[in-house]
Amino acid sequence: MKKLLFILLPLFLVQISCKNKLNLPEKQLHDNNLQELNPNLIKQQFFSEIEIENKIKKQIKTQINNGVLVSEMEVPFNEKTLHYLGYIHPNALSIFSKNLITNQKAPELNKKLHVYNYDNFYISTEENDTISQQNAYFALRAINILKYRYTEAYNRLIKNAMFGPKSIPSIGFNYLNSNQAIWIAFNKNPSAIASNRLYLILDGYADLNKTIDLYRNIAIINIDSENILGHLNIGSKPIYKAKTAEENRIKYLKEGLVESIIHEMFHNYIDYAHSALPEYNAIYKMRGLNSFNNFEENIVLNTSLSYFYRKGGFTNSIRNYYYPNTFDANVKSLKNNKLFNTYFKSVFNKQPNNLRADLKMNILD
Ligand SMILES: [Zn+2]
Repeated sequence: MKKLLFILLPLFLVQISCKNKLNLPEKQLHDNNLQELNPNLIKQQFFSEIEIENKIKKQIKTQINNGVLVSEMEVPFNEKTLHYLGYIHPNALSIFSKNLITNQKAPELNKKLHVYNYDNFYISTEENDTISQQNAYFALRAINILKYRYTEAYNRLIKNAMFGPKSIPSIGFNYLNSNQAIWIAFNKNPSAIASNRLYLILDGYADLNKTIDLYRNIAIINIDSENILGHLNIGSKPIYKAKTAEENRIKYLKEGLVESIIHEMFHNYIDYAHSALPEYNAIYKMRGLNSFNNFEENIVLNTSLSYFYRKGGFTNSIRNYYYPNTFDANVKSLKNNKLFNTYFKSVFNKQPNNLRADLKMNILD
């Protein structure tokens, strides 16, 4: 056991020293007062990064055991993991060096942004005001809640997707996808609350014979910084229906955002997995067909929500909004257009029976 520790320690040091691989003068965190937003539950200055991480995990587990809802959890981020990279264009980061951002490829990131790095996550805001800093803090909070409370979802959709879904693709495909980073961007790109974009980065081969292309993509999750403010009839207000815009905003950031990240990462998973897992290619290859986006939306929504509500910790607000307003409405319109049964048969290869039980993927079961 001890021997293993000695071997692991140098490896770990190497990893840490490689961390500032971005060749940027790293700004101090206090340039950007995120520390002030961090719940003061751990005296972080006295502990190492790993010790802090273990304490965050313990804090979260204790709150789960005490039945604390996600919306009421107090969750610190690890100040030694967080790096504020400054007000920079994402193309200055080495992760985009093999496929630079342009207006055609990702207009929402083709500008200078306030960028934070937290492990494999990047978080960006367009401004640096209090609201933007709170958005960044709540994204960190959501990441830690997913990591330690909704571990299956975090592992399957985020952690494991850093590697290919299989070592070789399905017959007829010559490439595999993986993610090298998740980018959570607060901006005005999405139409309601959130959207995702798979940013493709071809990065060598998955095999020694150089026959299988390997992509190491960036999964971009856009969160609408305007619609979550809680005063519009789209975004956080119709879900939370609170008395004030501020309450809608905070309720979304504390709870809805956790679900949004997994929802968008599941759309992303369909892209990620399609060349190696046939059940995902069944969805992927139908994209672009008439109203198929509504069918995919129902699969994603129902896969995510049935997981979260089975695990517990959520108020009813999200499911009470999305099942009638999106899921049932999409089923109705697909049926009216005589598309529902055809799409169902093509994706699931059976007849629909119980929609809530059948219209989903089993990855989070
Ligand atoms: Zn969606």
